[in-house]
Amino acid sequence: MTGAVRLVTVGGECFGVAARSVLDLRERDGLLYKFHLTDMFSDRGIRRVSVFAAGTLEIVLPNYKSRVGTACVNAIRRAFDAGILRFDAPFDEQHYTQLQLSELDFENQRARTEPEIRQYIIHKAYWLAYRFPAQPEETGIIYPIPFDEPADLDYLGVTAADVRRNVKRLANQALLEKVLEGHARPTELLLSKYESGDRSALGLPTAVPVAANGSNETDDRKFARLAIDEARKSVPEDDRVHPKVGVVIVKDGRVLATAHRGEIPQCHAEYIALEKKLADVPVSSATVYTTLEPCTSRSHPKVPCAVRLVERKVARVVIGMLDPDDRISGRGQRTLRKAGIATELFPHKFMSEIEELNRDFMRDRETHRQSPSPGIQGAPFVVSVPLHTQAARTLIDATRELQKAVWSYVEFHSQYGIARAARDVANDERRILEKILMPLRIFEQDYDLPTDLARIAKEEVANINISLHRLTSEERPEVRKIAAQQVQDACHKVREAAKPYAYSNATGDDAKASST
Ligand SMILES: [Zn+2]
Repeated sequence: MTGAVRLVTVGGECFGVAARSVLDLRERDGLLYKFHLTDMFSDRGIRRVSVFAAGTLEIVLPNYKSRVGTACVNAIRRAFDAGILRFDAPFDEQHYTQLQLSELDFENQRARTEPEIRQYIIHKAYWLAYRFPAQPEETGIIYPIPFDEPADLDYLGVTAADVRRNVKRLANQALLEKVLEGHARPTELLLSKYESGDRSALGLPTAVPVAANGSNETDDRKFARLAIDEARKSVPEDDRVHPKVGVVIVKDGRVLATAHRGEIPQCHAEYIALEKKLADVPVSSATVYTTLEPCTSRSHPKVPCAVRLVERKVARVVIGMLDPDDRISGRGQRTLRKAGIATELFPHKFMSEIEELNRDFMRDRETHRQSPSPGIQGAPFVVSVPLHTQAARTLIDATRELQKAVWSYVEFHSQYGIARAARDVANDERRILEKILMPLRIFEQDYDLPTDLARIAKEEVANINISLHRLTSEERPEVRKIAAQQVQDACHKVREAAKPYAYSNATGDDAKASST
């Protein structure tokens, strides 16, 4: 129980728990465990909590030592559920709220109902897989997380099978993407519903207020209309097909600026509005209406519009249409949401109108995706070839290194025990994973590259992460061996997928053809 652990509750709290100290209270014959809780939900400060365990517990309960950590943490979670602990209440920073640990805290808890289990899973998926993931997320990959960890089961009073059944049910509703039994990640659908406050659609109780974003439906319609009118004025920069995009920036009900694509040649509408028209105007609480999802990838040194919107700290972005290329669709929206910017979509009727306005662009994006032949189209593929060849080679190298590191971990472990092995390998592992993620980014962000390698690598990296976790947390040697083998297999798959790109001088298409 060292370091901060991040937890969610059935009620939707999310906080970090750090164990501070244990006091042996002679006068009370017991131990006092002190914790500091950090609010993750919003910035409502630290709470201090102590948990008192009477000395008799240690005598009565044979499993006291191994269970007390979990018992404390779950007593804290239940105190939130019961309203004894609240981040909302005014709080004396010096004062510890004391909870009393009893034998009941070490026994099976009352089993939560099925809807409660699903509530818990949804909160955990949102907060711990997406908002505060244990894994870095620079690549846009949301890593799957386990929902059936012992402490979870203890808190919920249910079995792993109960949790898995509900994970499956949420996966059937397209709210989770199941990866392994018990391991899943939230889908775009869950994330957007959670953030839009659409609680009933997630099966969450609607009583809890979600942060208001000051949206006003009539205003939204008015400004969405204005953005579409603006989009119609778009000027294509060359004779290829380009989207028509209009942007309206609004603050306190007043239009600060409008812009359309190509209003300044070669420039995106968001850029024109933010940097050409409002460069010196604060837009920190503004709402941006844009008919197309902001871009997340522009060739250097241009800055993608999603990044610009984040930098300028706008409060809310209302989007008319997601990018029709499903390799990147949703990415701009996610970039904004991750930065705490509220996102919404235009009303349905307006979305259809924008799609109609961009019919050629959508068709172009879709056909481009099905039969990418950049060499023929004369796209700037000459530049991309070395880059993705390089990326593929890095992937091959890195997976080899990872395999080596994993086997040396297994060997070290049998020789010296877990502490030494973990220490020796942890740094290596982080470096190698970074080495794997870097080329993945290249494969994901370059619109002109084939997607199969990115997809395979992404899936396998998720598997690698799960197996590495199992490898380093597992005591039984035979299970460690299996985990190590799983890393080997995943590395092998990535390498097989990367090979055609690494050793071919032809375009991505030819490379792909030779691999099938
Ligand atoms: Zn852009």
